[in-house]
Amino acid sequence: QARKRFGQNFLSDDYIIGQIVSAISPQPSETLVEIGPGLAALTKPVAEQSGHLNVVELDRDLAERLRQRVDLAGKLTVYEADAMKFDFATLQSGEKKLRIFGNLPYNISTPLIFHLLSFSGLISDMHFMLQKEVVQRMASGPGSKAYGRLSVMTQYYCQVIPVLEVPPQSFEPAPKVDSAVVRLEPYTQLPYRAKSIKCLERVCREAFNQRRKTLRNALGQLFSPEQLQVMGMDLTLRPEQLSVADYVKLANGLAEMAGYGES
Ligand code: SAM
Repeated sequence: QARKRFGQNFLSDDYIIGQIVSAISPQPSETLVEIGPGLAALTKPVAEQSGHLNVVELDRDLAERLRQRVDLAGKLTVYEADAMKFDFATLQSGEKKLRIFGNLPYNISTPLIFHLLSFSGLISDMHFMLQKEVVQRMASGPGSKAYGRLSVMTQYYCQVIPVLEVPPQSFEPAPKVDSAVVRLEPYTQLPYRAKSIKCLERVCREAFNQRRKTLRNALGQLFSPEQLQVMGMDLTLRPEQLSVADYVKLANGLAEMAGYGES
């Protein structure tokens, strides 16, 4: 019996499961982490290929079932925890970076992605099943309707590579939306560096809340027109036309004004 409040839609399509596992391509020496293993549709093949897997599952009954599984004995470390609050740094040992994956609960996917991005320096890659629309938002560039806060924040940290589209019938129960798998590869060296992530988030939130206005008006609460011009911004552009580099420039302008240090 799937629990709605935990966003439980279990993968039931062996072809899709195989495609995801081969996209992840787990190797024995890696530190693999699965979020929301559920009934182990991905857990089992990944654990078999890698030999060991850390899983973070919030549902107590599912966590207990995973601990009891004879076929996975010795291959799993089960953390019964909320992935949104989980300190992923505790899973890192030595220099080895984490490889994280999961068929995520869609009701919390955006805040969960933001939480994970805060660990991006410790992560070598992530593969997630998400609502197709969320993958489109992550991957979109300036000028596109789907371009927004999630695009800028994700692309600030990661290269975004859509991998596979997945229809509702591949799950039990079937979700109401189309799904897609995305691969996120955090940059080892960020292409643009924000002095303060809080400022980057603030600028994005402000700008995309009023995406139809011109920059002059959309960011009027944060910057005077003169300040925007000093940063080289065209006041007549709309928020959805600015690149990630432009947002970093604005964030750094805000950080300087507010006297923020590195964060
Ligand atoms: N991986 C399984 C599969 O593909 O069949 C299950 C995917 S289901 C969409 C999402 C899973 O995440 C469920 O097992 C659910 O209990 C778990 N979950 C929900 N919220 C969670 C949270 N905050 N932290 C960790 N796991 C969570």
